[in-house]
Amino acid sequence: MSDKKKLLIVDDAPFIREIVKHIVAKDEIIETIGEAENGVDAIAKASSLKPDIILMDIVMPQKSGIQAAQEILAENPGIKIISCSTLDKDLLADKAKDAGCVGHVQKPFNAEELINTLKNS
Ligand SMILES: [Mg+2]
Repeated sequence: MSDKKKLLIVDDAPFIREIVKHIVAKDEIIETIGEAENGVDAIAKASSLKPDIILMDIVMPQKSGIQAAQEILAENPGIKIISCSTLDKDLLADKAKDAGCVGHVQKPFNAEELINTLKNS
């Protein structure tokens, strides 16, 4: 059985999820165990898949990443949530931190930035 850290990828953009999956597939410490496309989906998958780490897009339909992070952490305080947003959204990164996110990745990110943030959070 794998003892890698289990990652749930949450983003409403399918191509971002594909990029993250592709980057993580080469890593020896982290493995992707699932994907979600909005905040409601993220809460359901966090509950059913029990990830160790969640990469959480902030701006999403139905429920924002910030709201989803708050609800997930209320149920599962051990999950490490790393927020993700675009360059001009610093305010959102601060709000995500207030919601309990332990790290932040700015889009566009490169493979090294993403992996380092996921590992160091
Ligand atoms: Mg988005």
